[in-house]
Amino acid sequence: MADTGVEKVVIIGSGPAGWTAAVYAARAQLAPVVYTGVPKSDPGPVLPGGQLMLTTEVENYPGFPEGVEGPHLMDLFRKQAERFGTRIIEEDVNRCDFSQRPFVLHTDGGRVRAHSVIIATGATANWIGLDNEMRLARTGGGVSACAVCDGALPAFRNKPLAVVGGGDTAMEEATYLTKFASTVYVIHRRDSLRASKIMQQRFLSRPNAQVLWNKVVVDVLGQDKIEGVLLEDTVTGERAPLSVGGLFIAIGHTPATRFLKESGLEFNDKGYIALHGRHSATNIPGVFAAGDVADAEYRQAVTAAGMGCQAALDAERWLAAQGID
Ligand SMILES: Cc1cc2nc3c(=O)[nH]c(=O)nc-3n(C[C@H](O)[C@H](O)[C@H](O)COP(=O)(O)OP(=O)(O)OC[C@H]3O[C@@H](n4cnc5c(N)ncnc54)[C@H](O)[C@@H]3O)c2cc1C
Repeated sequence: MADTGVEKVVIIGSGPAGWTAAVYAARAQLAPVVYTGVPKSDPGPVLPGGQLMLTTEVENYPGFPEGVEGPHLMDLFRKQAERFGTRIIEEDVNRCDFSQRPFVLHTDGGRVRAHSVIIATGATANWIGLDNEMRLARTGGGVSACAVCDGALPAFRNKPLAVVGGGDTAMEEATYLTKFASTVYVIHRRDSLRASKIMQQRFLSRPNAQVLWNKVVVDVLGQDKIEGVLLEDTVTGERAPLSVGGLFIAIGHTPATRFLKESGLEFNDKGYIALHGRHSATNIPGVFAAGDVADAEYRQAVTAAGMGCQAALDAERWLAAQGID
């Protein structure tokens, strides 16, 4: 039996990974507590419900043949977790002390002790930070931070599209968009790309690929739908509009791990939580991680949900092995 006042499992984060972990843990009678997080804007916008709260149409989540709005999907995830008795606390976890057992988590409202913890805090897409960029991203106005997620939507077909970035991810996203767009402009602030040669060549070999060198986006134009971007030349300072029907920001992600800095957890070279093999186990027994916070590779809702399931099953087995069930 668990000590009184000690949770069997605390789940940090309320995106697809966190809610899926909650569904599994609740159905396994582990009485999970989910800390949803609170709205934040640094390094980019983060809301309870996670990154899908920043998008409109989700067309690739299985089970929704007609597509589903991101916030509605997250509401359904939450309701499913609630149905099985998940307790929900709308606060952030600010610090984790994994050096003592039970673990101690410091939250907005105080402290909570837990035998096991599942970290599902995601990775925030980096945005340029322009008002009109965020407004049109949230309203389905043609600005996105995920080409693989949104590029195939009918709204982007046969239109000129812009991608901001210069690394491998930007090249991958831009190459993907060449399948749908009339032209794909990669907008890059310098006169050479950071991306590997092979990724650059893959993009540049497409007949509808173009790089606009030494340019930054200083505004996004259009009321309800994007009509263009205002570019500034980083060498001359000159400004000129470029007409586009979509803008994809590909300047990286920041895993939400700042609150774990002193926790003793291991991270990989990109700052994501390091996992051991195919499991969700971290270097600290009893601490598991799921979703984008531990996955720089796929970063999709369905993969995050799958990892949430794995983490809950791993936590359940680990707790049983400790005699806590
Ligand atoms: C614009 C955009 C469009 C996208 N479209 C699609 C799509 O169409 N299809 C698709 O499959 N994927 C899409 N994605 C990717 C998808 O959103 C992510 O892969 C997925 O949300 C990751 O889930 P997660 O649970 O790991 O993390 P997230 O969804 O990022 O959730 C993280 C959660 O952790 C919480 N949190 C953070 N820090 C703390 C803390 N200290 N304490 C407590 N809580 C905390 C946050 O509040 C949030 O609830 C899109 C992403 C973006 C940015």
